[in-house]
Amino acid sequence: MRVNLTNLECPRCGARRDADVPTNLCGCGSPLLARYDLEAVGKALTPEEIARRPADLWRYRELLPVRDPARAVSLGEGWTPLLPVLRYGHRIGLPGLLVKDEGALPTGSFKARGAAVGVSRAAELGIDHVALPTNGNAGAAWATYAARAGMRATVAMPIAAPESTRRECLVAGADVHLVDGLIGDAAAKIRTLIAENGAFDASTLREPYRIEGKKTLGLEIVEQLGWAAPDAIVYPTGGGVGLIGIHKAVGELAELGWLRGRPPRLVVVQSTGCAPIVRAFAAGRRRADPWPDPHTAAFGINVAAPLGDELILDAVYASGGTAIAVDDAEIMADLRQFGRDEGLWLCPEGAAGLTAVRHLLASGWLSADARVVVVNTGLGLKYPETVAGDSSG
Ligand SMILES: *Cc1c(COP(=O)(O)O)cnc(C)c1O
Ligand SMILES: [Zn+2]
Repeated sequence: MRVNLTNLECPRCGARRDADVPTNLCGCGSPLLARYDLEAVGKALTPEEIARRPADLWRYRELLPVRDPARAVSLGEGWTPLLPVLRYGHRIGLPGLLVKDEGALPTGSFKARGAAVGVSRAAELGIDHVALPTNGNAGAAWATYAARAGMRATVAMPIAAPESTRRECLVAGADVHLVDGLIGDAAAKIRTLIAENGAFDASTLREPYRIEGKKTLGLEIVEQLGWAAPDAIVYPTGGGVGLIGIHKAVGELAELGWLRGRPPRLVVVQSTGCAPIVRAFAAGRRRADPWPDPHTAAFGINVAAPLGDELILDAVYASGGTAIAVDDAEIMADLRQFGRDEGLWLCPEGAAGLTAVRHLLASGWLSADARVVVVNTGLGLKYPETVAGDSSG
């Protein structure tokens, strides 16, 4: 049994909690973060040793909360490709553009990282039933990994969530509740269901270990670049767990002394139809107000009131990053252009990152010689309705 995981800690009020007891939020309302004995990790492990391990996210097990990795609930997740995209990069004037393709993960989205680690840790803590609201992909991933763990899953999602994700939940035998509304309404539904069935609340950032799985996205990007960060990482932000996770990963690597050069500037991308973080950033604020009447075809980033607003904004400010909103019509045009240039069918959220990069180049925030990673958070194939079925578009 490893003891690197020491405790849970509140980033807002500093309270410490026992990591081995199932826990949701801090008493002050903030999400909790997992803390490790990084000194012990640094003594026991080197980057060279990690490089010799199998190509999945468990290669970082000393920086993950699962105490017995031999019992991890796994579908072979992690170590997704970091692809140079030269033809498209030259077209937009950024040859150093790279795409981290999370569409290659089980369940077709990067939510698999959070679910693999979150479900593994839940199983280890004796939890046998998880419940969560979702815009689609988180529910699909948690339902899938829960089935793999022999655990029950209850999921609530908007009726309008991508159909492929609803079917994934059903295939995995989850108890699926459709809600005529948005993710916030699905969250209310889940609270009612939990009061009835006693499931563990695995909502975004209400349980502390999903973020640890998503952290591996940042660990991988840095390792794949030879333990150096790119100049910027562009991330389509909904609940913000991925962005917070990347920021946490970079911080832990810096503390371990494994990060060569400067940390990356983190870029929040949202839709002009739902941009609470962008609005807060533009006003220099540390908290975000809920976005009224949210709408965007990039369903994964349609989150009007992210619980982690403070942590997201902290990460953007601390990294010298920025936040930008992009328009759905432009996202879809970039998705199609990128497909023609590179052959890769991005999800709309990933394509939003391309639109953001073009605007940041035009404004001079990014320079033409920068090395920039756009995270393609999911598989375009999961949303066939986003492109026309004939040659018209
Ligand atoms: C969930 C999701 C996002 C947003 O990720 P967060 O970490 O919640 O901000 C982006 N793209 C896709 C495809 C998603 O499923
Ligand atoms: Zn607190």
